Amino acid sequence: MGKQEDFVLRALEERDVRFVRLWFTDVLGSLKSVAVAPAELEGAFSEGIGFDGSAIEGFTRVFESDMLAKPDPSTFQILPWRSSDGPATARMFCDIEMPDGSPSFADPRHVLKRALGRAAEQGFTFYTHPEIEFYLFKDLPGVGEEPVPVDRSGYFDHTAQSEGADFRREAITMLEAMGISVEFSHHEAGPGQQEIDLRYADALSTADNIMTFRTVIREVALSQGIWASFMPKPFTTHPGSGMHTHLSLFEGDENAFYEAGAEYQLSRTGRAFIAGVLRHAGEISVVTNQWVNSYKRMMFGGEAPSYVCWGHNNRSAMIRVPMYKPMKGQSTRVELRTIDAACNPYLAYAAVLAAGLKGVEHGYEMPAEAEDDVWSLSERERTSLGIAPLPRNLNEAITIAEESELLAETLGEQVFDFLLRNKRQEWDEYRGQVSAFERDRMLPII
Ligand code: GLN
Ligand code: MG
Ligand code: MG
Ligand code: MG
Repeated sequence: MGKQEDFVLRALEERDVRFVRLWFTDVLGSLKSVAVAPAELEGAFSEGIGFDGSAIEGFTRVFESDMLAKPDPSTFQILPWRSSDGPATARMFCDIEMPDGSPSFADPRHVLKRALGRAAEQGFTFYTHPEIEFYLFKDLPGVGEEPVPVDRSGYFDHTAQSEGADFRREAITMLEAMGISVEFSHHEAGPGQQEIDLRYADALSTADNIMTFRTVIREVALSQGIWASFMPKPFTTHPGSGMHTHLSLFEGDENAFYEAGAEYQLSRTGRAFIAGVLRHAGEISVVTNQWVNSYKRMMFGGEAPSYVCWGHNNRSAMIRVPMYKPMKGQSTRVELRTIDAACNPYLAYAAVLAAGLKGVEHGYEMPAEAEDDVWSLSERERTSLGIAPLPRNLNEAITIAEESELLAETLGEQVFDFLLRNKRQEWDEYRGQVSAFERDRMLPII
């Protein structure tokens, strides 16, 4: 038993923990949880806890349904919303293994670990810092009803006694209690829409933190009698919820994106990484934006990107190279604005990293910067500038992904096949739906 395991076993006694929740994530990004008694943990650390993986989205083919969840002791945390008085509940993230002890190829955490391992072979660590947007509604709306936002405020609004501010204060206190540092928080542009930005961390910790974040946000909302949602585009007429992510590579203690004196202080590695993410953006769209609804966020502006381009001061661009003055070398980073708040963060970060590293390995050149508001250009002007559209719907994203070696390699065969099959099915169900839009337009005249 290692040091960290010992620490966890001791903490269980000291904190009077009665339940330990073992957390893991399915291929579509839903959190799964199994509670075990503290007495089971020693065995869980050495052998794992067995469960039937066939019932979990994307985990197994039925003939190999026995799987093991092995807790990662470095992720041990007391759950503050279950532990205010009396015995406590704790959680740990798990790695999923096959009965023979090999990693499960369907485990998104493993997909990200494998991608990080490849980066490590080239001497890189990958850091991410997400800006997570979401809406607060008065309630979960009934079937077919529009949700009602908790307020009518807008971007950065400061309103006395607003539900949003109370909510953010309690949520951030809880996140900090779980070791998740918050950098900024504010009201976003939509009514009831909030943003909370996490401090940068290595991509695996960030992905774990995002999963915890979503749970905390939902719990705090429920405790206040409201409903939180990370749906990418809940309203036709209000902005969607993105998860812009700031990316950087480090070599040891040095930021590999930084070069003093270079344009935007961006090193060759930084430029090639950006070029990689741009070139492969369409192929990885099915993981950065995995739902039918994701593509409705990326239309008509609203500060969500629709085109493959970059800029430094251009919020319609897919990648923004921030121009902070004076920009400190070690904080050099780029902001990727495609990712939405309902992605599977493990898969999304694995795919983005793989795309960027492709650029670094092959020395891709960065295209010219997009200076203009790309939405205001005509299709022709965009074409002549070489600015390609991102996939316009899930169907286009799937079609491009099916041909992507990069994605197949990064996700591994099992996740790749499951994901594309599942997404095809979602699209097929969706395209057969007769909507209010069609009835309202047609019934009066035809
Ligand atoms: N809500 C926008 C999006 O969906 C982002 C708005 C912003 O942070 N400037 O990406
Ligand atoms: Mg922001
Ligand atoms: Mg924002
Ligand atoms: Mg941003």
